[in-house]
Amino acid sequence: MLIFEKSREGRGCSILPPCDVEVYEAAPEFSRQKPLHLPQMAEVDIERHYTQLAAKAHGVNDGFYPLGSCTMKYNPRVNEQTASMSKFTHVHPLQPLDTLQGSLQVLQETEKALNAITGMSRFTFQPAAGAHGEFTGLLLIKAYHLANGDTQRTKIIVPDSAHGTNPASAVMAGMSVINTASDERGCVDVEKLRQICEGEEGKEIAGLMLTNPNTAGLFDPNILEITEIIHGCGGQVYYDGANLNAIMGVARPGDMGFDCVHLNLHKTFSTPHGGGGPGAGPVGCKEHLAKFLPGLVTEEKDGKLVFVKPEQSLGEMKNFYGNFLVVVKALTYIKMLGAEGIAAASENAVLNANYMMAKLRDKYDIAFDTKICMHEFVMDLSRLLKETGVSAMDIAKGLLDHGIHPPTMYFPLTVHEALMVEPTETESRETLDEAIQVLEGLYDLAFSDPEALHDAPHTTPVSRLDEVGAARHPVLRYAFE
Ligand SMILES: *Cc1c(COP(=O)(O)O)cnc(C)c1O
Repeated sequence: MLIFEKSREGRGCSILPPCDVEVYEAAPEFSRQKPLHLPQMAEVDIERHYTQLAAKAHGVNDGFYPLGSCTMKYNPRVNEQTASMSKFTHVHPLQPLDTLQGSLQVLQETEKALNAITGMSRFTFQPAAGAHGEFTGLLLIKAYHLANGDTQRTKIIVPDSAHGTNPASAVMAGMSVINTASDERGCVDVEKLRQICEGEEGKEIAGLMLTNPNTAGLFDPNILEITEIIHGCGGQVYYDGANLNAIMGVARPGDMGFDCVHLNLHKTFSTPHGGGGPGAGPVGCKEHLAKFLPGLVTEEKDGKLVFVKPEQSLGEMKNFYGNFLVVVKALTYIKMLGAEGIAAASENAVLNANYMMAKLRDKYDIAFDTKICMHEFVMDLSRLLKETGVSAMDIAKGLLDHGIHPPTMYFPLTVHEALMVEPTETESRETLDEAIQVLEGLYDLAFSDPEALHDAPHTTPVSRLDEVGAARHPVLRYAFE
């Protein structure tokens, strides 16, 4: 039931002090003709309404959330404490810089930390999310080629295992996409890449977009050769940093030969995501791209921090400095962990994924059957579907009845009945053991009672939803009578 349907004329909970200034009536052309349509409710009913809604949703604070590629780690409370300090929440982006030195310091220190983690030279915090960061990074690459007079470099290579946002961002940036097939290990096919780059098309290549480890959770062993091939034909290499949780503090995209990266602060750096944000997808680049960065960057001048516009800035990607409070949360996380803690977080993320994969391998088939994975792994349920009629979707829905959020389904596209599991480092061994037990139980159930899984979930507020219908015919407005 919507809050508007619970509303009753005349109820409310605002207790305002009597007005002690002269009442000024606005000119009729500026005043509202009808009263503002707001729900009218007592505080207790509002409180219950939202508490009930919250109980219907599943978040990281409710239970295990192994949504591959999304890094649904626990977000420590202390991040929220710093981000809600009034010195950060009550600042205005247009107030004099003298009074904003602390906020500038947050941007500068976060930038330094991210440079150290990624091997980049400069960052912009304007992009609001990962996909927005990809778009920004591609515009940087485009600006670089145009500044070099390379107007013909309009093609970007994207492997078929890439996140869907990669090709979409490339098209938005006005580039055309060359989709390359992965090899049988799910990694970049180096020979195919070489053929493209050393052939006729080489001089039209703007660059390559890659995430490493890739979406199958595998670290590409040929990464140095790959970035060298792209540079060899004059292209730039873009790092989709959404999977940084596997390697932060251990390996750096900059050292692998990448020229620019985006990071998902709302994945790797423990700021909340889901439910529409806000997120932050800062973009870092090496020195040769820095002069094209959007917005303003911080510099030190006469012992003070100031904002400067990069020389050939590509413009604005968002107003002011992006979602600043998300940056405050990320910096808190980085400072709480320190350099050693950052590396330990990644190591434990990888350990947790390998623990689950090793245990589940007895029953489930692992895609790209690999001995060791990085922060996530992909199960291939094609055989189970053939033998029992139970699909990856059915198993995912079955997990809901056990209070576990399903893994990412049907992604990467290169695996047909894919379930992509990313436990993250913040889960205890007990939680992992319980999830393993549930997944094993569902596997057995697929053989003994497949019907029970076809109509799972049974315990959630709603069962199977018409997802295609919702996507094709979305109802985005509520019709008030
Ligand atoms: C999440 C993700 C993105 C996009 O990030 P958003 O913040 O959702 O826009 C891009 N690439 C990969 C690999 C991702 O997992």
